[in-house]
Amino acid sequence: MAGSHNPKMNAHKFNCLLKSYMSESNFLRTNRDAQNPACDGPQMKNLKIPAFNYSFMPAVKFASGLASEIGEELKAIGAASQVLIISDPGVIAAGLGDTVTASLKKQGVAVDLFNDLKGETSAASIDAATETIRACRPSAVIGLGGGSALDVAKMATVVAAADHSTESYALMRRPLPPRAAKLVMLPTTAGTGAEVTRTAVFTDSRGHKVWAWGDALAADLVILDPALTVSLPHALTAATGLDAMVHAIEACTVKSSHPFVQANGLHAIRLIYQHLAGALERPQDLNARANLLTASTLAGLAIDGAGTGLAHSIGHALGTIAGIHHGRAVALALDVIFPKNATTAINIHAEIAAALGVQVDKTAAAQTAKMGAQAFGGFIRRTGIELSLKPDGLSPKDVGRLVDAIYSEENLPMIENNCYSANESAISEFARQLLSR
Ligand SMILES: [Zn+2]
Repeated sequence: MAGSHNPKMNAHKFNCLLKSYMSESNFLRTNRDAQNPACDGPQMKNLKIPAFNYSFMPAVKFASGLASEIGEELKAIGAASQVLIISDPGVIAAGLGDTVTASLKKQGVAVDLFNDLKGETSAASIDAATETIRACRPSAVIGLGGGSALDVAKMATVVAAADHSTESYALMRRPLPPRAAKLVMLPTTAGTGAEVTRTAVFTDSRGHKVWAWGDALAADLVILDPALTVSLPHALTAATGLDAMVHAIEACTVKSSHPFVQANGLHAIRLIYQHLAGALERPQDLNARANLLTASTLAGLAIDGAGTGLAHSIGHALGTIAGIHHGRAVALALDVIFPKNATTAINIHAEIAAALGVQVDKTAAAQTAKMGAQAFGGFIRRTGIELSLKPDGLSPKDVGRLVDAIYSEENLPMIENNCYSANESAISEFARQLLSR
């Protein structure tokens, strides 16, 4: 069993710190503020809608084949002199960089490529990309790939603007400097929503999954081209689709949630519920891919507005202790937590259940909310992901280690943001259930 943990004080300190850096942002600015006078939040005692701010985020352009027009798009934002593409080797090997490069060259743009990325994002790989940016001084950086490539592109472009290392910005230890280059995002997966968030997640030198946050990480332009996603393999389509689903559900239900977030999140849940199976069965189905890409970006906007919850604390901890793929890790975690969450924020969970295909006619909200937990469990099982963590080398003996990782400094804000305020014994029980499958 893990030692005693006290997340409340530390998470509160974090949230105050976040706000001290944000003059006009919305992240974690919530009804929790009303209960936390020490954070100087607005008092909204009698309203069911919490106080919230909402910033309208990067320009988003969607069309199949749009990647082949990126040269014109960069010209339109005044950044078409020298471009650095940050991508990963798999994306480049699949030929997805060719279309982008051809379009840029057609406009007379000089193009450099950085694709020295392996697996999930590390501070070291961001530092390496930063050195490339400092050397070639591009007018724009294009992130082309899944969440890892996009996070490297975002973070390296920001880090390159000053003299500090990537790790020195982790967990908001230092405010981010303003970027010198424009930032353009071309996602090739439908999952993380990293193209529209102001967060970058990376592994630090201790092996912990940590994050950086700030307005400087917001892109100038997001190009959504579903044709870039059709070659995504089955397992990654499932895992990234589940990540987007968990983003949408957590953003709708966390303490920081509000109607603008829920509008995006609920529609994302509907779209993923309706189209993930189609994309898995028919990888070339552009309509299914287009709907998933739209949904994952909507879910990204939702988490940018409200953050995530306990499933992401547990998911990041599973990434830290056993390298479990992020999308699978958060889906397995939410599968365990969902029934308890559904007894806390009942009305929004009833709406989520409806978005997950539960028939709501004549059914009380509390019952519908509980049925949502079953619907979510059925949904993740139909994707075929491995439910047991035993093949990953984990067993019930690892409960203490997992709980310690869940309570790491970087995971505390997500624990506190969860709709259901889980104490250590509840979190240990969730961890035990996860490791006993
Ligand atoms: Zn996630």
